[in-house]
Amino acid sequence: MAKRDYYEVLGVPKTATKDEIKKGYRKLAVKYHPDKNQGDKEAEEKFKEATEAYEVLADDDKRKIYDQYGHAGLEGMGGGGGYSHAYTDFQDIFQGFDLDSLFGNFFGGGFGGFSSRSHSRGPSRGTSLRYDLTLSFKDAVFGKKVEIQYSHQAKCSKCNGTGGEAGASKKTCGTCGGAGQIRRNTGFFSVAQTCPTCHGEGQVIDKPCTACGGSGLEKVKQTVQVTIPAGVDNGSRLTLSGQGNVGKNGGPAGDLYIFISVDDDPNFERHGSDIYCAIPISPIQAILGSEITVETVEGKKIKVKVPAGIQSGKLLRVKKEGVPSGSFGSKGDFFIKLIVRTPQSISPEARELYGKILKIEGENTSPEPLNRGELL
Ligand SMILES: [Zn+2]
Ligand SMILES: [Zn+2]
Repeated sequence: MAKRDYYEVLGVPKTATKDEIKKGYRKLAVKYHPDKNQGDKEAEEKFKEATEAYEVLADDDKRKIYDQYGHAGLEGMGGGGGYSHAYTDFQDIFQGFDLDSLFGNFFGGGFGGFSSRSHSRGPSRGTSLRYDLTLSFKDAVFGKKVEIQYSHQAKCSKCNGTGGEAGASKKTCGTCGGAGQIRRNTGFFSVAQTCPTCHGEGQVIDKPCTACGGSGLEKVKQTVQVTIPAGVDNGSRLTLSGQGNVGKNGGPAGDLYIFISVDDDPNFERHGSDIYCAIPISPIQAILGSEITVETVEGKKIKVKVPAGIQSGKLLRVKKEGVPSGSFGSKGDFFIKLIVRTPQSISPEARELYGKILKIEGENTSPEPLNRGELL
């Protein structure tokens, strides 16, 4: 089923302020809240749809990506597995976010705290994690294999995930009386929340494991190899499925999401799959035309013809020397901006020759019609 437009979902215009977005969401959230619509699948879907739309539109960065690229932009690059990193200490960058609470069902995780899940004592999916990876400009263009190290929750190795010492047994949780959830007021509305003592189990262990305190979990450092596909950009996201936190009661593990940001390059700038660079030329080259050698982002030296009489600031376009895009070997273009630079010191011979040209050409004293607003 095609995804509906987020603005349409919330019933607000594309120009909506944050306040209008919040109001739009609040109206829907109150109407479709699962607690008020027990067992109503359609209401639950509507609630999730509105929540997802709100989470994107209320976040300036995500909203910008959505406005520009639509749903596809937020789906990131998917698939892949791989990465480069300029970090030396992974602990500084690993943020261990619980993405399920950040995005709700957005990432396909459980809907923590709402009645759709909180009664389930069966298997549940582990939470997903976020890893922020900064790539150099060129690594983002060409892709790279990288190794990343991060911490995630795995089964406690002492109790093998049971949470109990040998011979331990379970008793009813005192905090929630076995219900597995408690109610909490969030301001908008009251929600049923997973019990913090038993984590929704309704039961607690009488002799908790001394290594994990009964959670059945331990933090484990993990190293994974990731292949970053060529052409990723700021805001791209890669998914390593099953590499997040371990699931509960035999449920599947969460995912690891790699959020990519890309460093600037001193010589190149990227716009989508096109690359731009700026090359200075002398007034003589601009007048007579010439052939210049330019290095592409791949490090290839290419010869480019500068036409005679070119003006400063003109762009020359070289096809298919940009960023790989799509899976069929297509590429963006390479643009060269020519900047005419006036030499600040010249040799006596050159001065004499320029003097002769000036005599031939004469001095220009007539004004050029102004383009209003362009002078400052
Ligand atoms: Zn409890
Ligand atoms: Zn344990």
